[in-house]
Amino acid sequence: MHPLALYKIPFTGLKTGKHEFQIDVDQEFFTHFPESEIEDANGVVDVVLNYSETNMVLHLKMNLSWKVPCGRCLEELHFDLQSYERIAIQYGEETEIGDDLWILGKNEIELDLSQTILEMAHLARPSNQVHDNESDCDPRMLAFFKSDSNEKSNKTIDPRWDALKNL
Ligand SMILES: [Zn+2]
Repeated sequence: MHPLALYKIPFTGLKTGKHEFQIDVDQEFFTHFPESEIEDANGVVDVVLNYSETNMVLHLKMNLSWKVPCGRCLEELHFDLQSYERIAIQYGEETEIGDDLWILGKNEIELDLSQTILEMAHLARPSNQVHDNESDCDPRMLAFFKSDSNEKSNKTIDPRWDALKNL
């Protein structure tokens, strides 16, 4: 089975009407996208597909929990990634995947939701991935990073020295 097969919905042969699916999203999903800035998130996407032979409408409701190190002190933070998307689907000559309108060419037999789920998760991220207040951060780590960056800025680093360290 293709590793992302779970994120595809075959639609040929579906009856006209409403179909509901639940897609599990876990850490492994994000490993398939090297460009992903999310590594560790878990949860579900509830999918409702209104199918007819002339068009379809997809509703996606995402509810993930994301674990990410605080940008200041590296302590693990948890954020909810919640998002909703409605996508209209029509048939045409050639496949064209837009944000909220997909045109499917005649040879298409399934709806690939993996890219959409990846994008929804990224858009749902909070803009600051740090503790709300710096006083909530781990003080030892803050002190450590401070001394570390001072040390670096006081020295001119010879790249040859860096290369030697890796031997
Ligand atoms: Zn912090």
